[in-house]
Amino acid sequence: MNSSDSEPASTPPKAHDFIRDIINKDLEEKRQTKVITRFPPEPNGFLHIGHAKSICLNFGLALDYRERLPGSGTRCHLRFDDTDPIKEDTLFEDGIQADVRWLGFQWDGLYHASDYFEKMYEYAEHLIMTGKAYVCSQTDAESKANRGDVKTPGKNSPYRDRSVEENLDLFRRMRKGEFPDSAHVLRGKIDMANANMKMRDPMLYRIRHTAHHMTGDKWCIYPMYDFAHPISDAIEGITHSICTLEFENNRELYDWVIDNLIEYAKFPSRPHQYEFARLSLNYTVLSKRRLQELVEGKHVSGWDDPRLPTIAGLRRRGYTPESLRAFCADIGVAKANSTVDMAQLEFHIRDDLNQKAPRVLAVLKPLKVVIENYPDDKVEELDASYWPHDVPKTGTRKLPFSREVFIEQDDFMEEAPKDYYRLAPGKEVRLRYAYLITCKEVIKDESGKVVELRCTYDTETKVGDNPVGRKVKGTIHWVSARHAIGAEVRLYDRLLSIEAPPTGKDSEFLNAINPGALQVIEGCKLERSLGEAKPGDRFQFERQGYFICDEKDSKPGAPVFNRIVTLKDSYARTQKK
Ligand code: ATP
Ligand code: MG
Repeated sequence: MNSSDSEPASTPPKAHDFIRDIINKDLEEKRQTKVITRFPPEPNGFLHIGHAKSICLNFGLALDYRERLPGSGTRCHLRFDDTDPIKEDTLFEDGIQADVRWLGFQWDGLYHASDYFEKMYEYAEHLIMTGKAYVCSQTDAESKANRGDVKTPGKNSPYRDRSVEENLDLFRRMRKGEFPDSAHVLRGKIDMANANMKMRDPMLYRIRHTAHHMTGDKWCIYPMYDFAHPISDAIEGITHSICTLEFENNRELYDWVIDNLIEYAKFPSRPHQYEFARLSLNYTVLSKRRLQELVEGKHVSGWDDPRLPTIAGLRRRGYTPESLRAFCADIGVAKANSTVDMAQLEFHIRDDLNQKAPRVLAVLKPLKVVIENYPDDKVEELDASYWPHDVPKTGTRKLPFSREVFIEQDDFMEEAPKDYYRLAPGKEVRLRYAYLITCKEVIKDESGKVVELRCTYDTETKVGDNPVGRKVKGTIHWVSARHAIGAEVRLYDRLLSIEAPPTGKDSEFLNAINPGALQVIEGCKLERSLGEAKPGDRFQFERQGYFICDEKDSKPGAPVFNRIVTLKDSYARTQKK
């Protein structure tokens, strides 16, 4: 009926942004004949929706320009930026690949920065030999003190004028493992007074006696991002290296590395770096470090907790790849940072599921209704459409109707105001697809809690049989007690209860976790047809929202449903109050 498989991404709708303007100009002016991009995650955590923006951009460019430049070699690589063995792991690589595929994209080549460690080492020696790099033996504290700050120029390292021979010897011995961590580093010899702090003799290599998930014990020195990234791009022939704005100051160093190696290395391309605004979303956090804190501190159930903005969390929550791609296309690619409203993301999943999710009846907080004048042994099979009139789809199922039904506790009020159109003593309401019922008696337990309603039904008012029946304002959903499927339902809401997490100390944002972000309801009653729901199937529970059958915790006969999103943007309203 509905499946969680995604349609592969197709060429994005004629997107227009400043990156495409740059590429078009490069093509027009014949600086490039093809477009090669890459998505370069560090395998130290799971991807989040910010990464989805970058994925849609990089893979989307390849799809777009491949169509315009057939046979040109236009493509997009997935490259793991695995230069820090302490935090990285194969487990994360597997998760990242699954996420990219699920989003609907396929890479034209899977690479690792570590594929190029040998080349990078050779290039580092070349920089030493050409007087562009030196081994510095200051302590971390000394280097920091000598760096200066934006207003104060840095001081040259006392090791800056080591001879080429001495540098080469030390660097080779660093590789051989003769020194402990932090004893020496390799630095670019640039300018300690440069206004751009990144250019103040940046670190290119450091010692780390740590095994690497790809290269094992082969290396005990590892290149820094700023050295590894431009070289990886250049080796792979990347034409447009796209990253987020916080790397703006790194661009000068990126160019310095390329400029000082390109002749020697004979790179197949001279890549350029372009920066775009990173995605930030309100009511959540989009930083791997913070997400990791939530996971490791057990504030959530794991990287795929449906409260998290991780791709794995959004997938489990029930978001479709199509909705995430539509969201990314909608927010566009700009040069200035801004915060996107969560409501915009929620709009896209509603928009997608409106066309895809069959409508069914589910009672989350059941209240028993006995229809006294309905025969005990009778069951009627009522026709019910899976789709509303404005969705051009067909498909129906039979809803069993019997003497005892469950309705939503919230759909009954003992002392109801005039404009309450649901059920109340003496009042009449329509049961969706079925009859009008009237509440005759309210039964309570010792504590005064309403536990059952005794009602009667009007035989003349069956939907379909009597289309010109009496007008009753309220229609409520229900399920037949005898036929209901029991289920656990998890109502998810926004992760944070405030729009912007505190910017202060890192863990302060933990105080902003919305305690209502997860509400577990057991003993829910679903209509019979949901007994056949498979993990990953999505539905609209009429009047309640969109739900997905949880892929991890559902068991045959005991499904678990996650609320993907409510039907309306209830936030806009509650926020106003
Ligand atoms: P975070 O900053 O969230 O911890 P990261 O930047 O360290 O993530 P990487 O694995 O280095 O994560 O990111 C891979 C790519 O995704 C980079 O090119 C990065 O610029 C991009 N990216 C990361 N976060 C966002 C975001 N919020 N919006 C858009 N692109 C992003
Ligand atoms: Mg980062």
